[in-house]
Amino acid sequence: MRKIILGFLVLIFAVTTLTACVNFNKEQETLDKIKSRDKLIVGVKADSKPFGYKNEKGEIVGYDVDLAKKIAENILGDPNKIELVEVTSANRIMKLTSGEVDLLISSFTINPQRKKAVDFSVPYFATGQALMVKKGSNIRSFVDLDDKSIGVVIGTTSEQNIKELAPRSVIKSVKTYKELYNLLKNGEVDVITSDAAILRGFEQDDKEVVLLSGRYTKEYYGIAFRKEEDSESLEQAINGILKKLDTTNFFVQLGKTWVTD
Ligand code: GLU
Repeated sequence: MRKIILGFLVLIFAVTTLTACVNFNKEQETLDKIKSRDKLIVGVKADSKPFGYKNEKGEIVGYDVDLAKKIAENILGDPNKIELVEVTSANRIMKLTSGEVDLLISSFTINPQRKKAVDFSVPYFATGQALMVKKGSNIRSFVDLDDKSIGVVIGTTSEQNIKELAPRSVIKSVKTYKELYNLLKNGEVDVITSDAAILRGFEQDDKEVVLLSGRYTKEYYGIAFRKEEDSESLEQAINGILKKLDTTNFFVQLGKTWVTD
């Protein structure tokens, strides 16, 4: 009899502890964490004009940064309640899954392979993979790339697509967009490839480089969340905000301010 009572007490203790843990985890949802710390922590690019890059004062600015501020304003009532954490194409998923950032707004294309690692919001921007050459180059499209050298950034969709799009070219992979630009400028490659809207950022500052007209993929950018229950309410809230913003002219204005492609 004693054993039965003892067993029963142990069972009650286990159930109570488990319930407490579940409630505790609920309180720790990312959206609750953001609200209780009164700050949104966002992973953004700092080398990808016009989405996220450093201005003359060293501040990170751009299309994605303005979107991040708008989201902070909607969730916390103030666009400045935000911390920007620099990410690269190659390390952004790790920065998110490790918990260093609440979410990523980083010119990040939604695709099935990435959906295995992270969750995405509804799309907020569309562009396509393109080529950039130096003025005077006779390269016009991917069909001219046999035996040519082509630069690409590691961890991007362009890197994934390039082998299929240009199977007979020599690929040089680099970590940052600054290195990508330098590859072309220093003549280390004949051509570079990335999203048209990012290559357009180089062209804005340098009339010696030319964005070619072909678009070879569809790149829909989404905000990325950790693929766990702790992000569920955040995802819902942000999809609601994006849909609401879409009914205003917010994205039209952002496009006019930052993007020309
Ligand atoms: N949108 C592409 C991607 O998600 C390239 C831009 C980037 O890496 O930030 O891979």
